[in-house]
Amino acid sequence: MRLSPHFSHHEKGGGMKGCIFCKIVDKEIVSKIVYEDDDLIAFHDINPLAPVHILLVSKKHIENILGMTDEDAKLAAGLLFAANEIAKKFNIDKSGFRLIINCNSDGGQEVFHLHAHLIGGAPLGKMC
Ligand code: 5GP
Ligand code: ZN
Repeated sequence: MRLSPHFSHHEKGGGMKGCIFCKIVDKEIVSKIVYEDDDLIAFHDINPLAPVHILLVSKKHIENILGMTDEDAKLAAGLLFAANEIAKKFNIDKSGFRLIINCNSDGGQEVFHLHAHLIGGAPLGKMC
């Protein structure tokens, strides 16, 4: 279910009610964490689409990239740098990977808390 943006807030790890990724950020729900910094947490996707499938999730609850503001510039850049670091950690930097951010309905977004998918470890084929 998608909660109204009216109820969203922007505290780091504040735990927006009913948001599964806020619960993972707050460690109320266990995940296999592979990276963490002030703005982000990254963990294995529960339903991996490839040998490496990591989710990079903002600590702050933002619905998706449409909800980003100038305040989030450091977070946005940090997400790209963290993806680099994690790709190296999982040894998929040279073989290659895909970094995907789904947005809203046509984008196939299911969890309305900003995240990117880092996917690799096998040839991924064409987009879509
Ligand atoms: P979206 O479709 O919103 O871009 O991606 C949401 C992703 O979150 C999906 O790939 C799904 O498998 C993953 N996911 C949903 N719930 C959980 C969970 O509780 N734990 C983990 N690790 N991944 C989850
Ligand atoms: Zn959230």
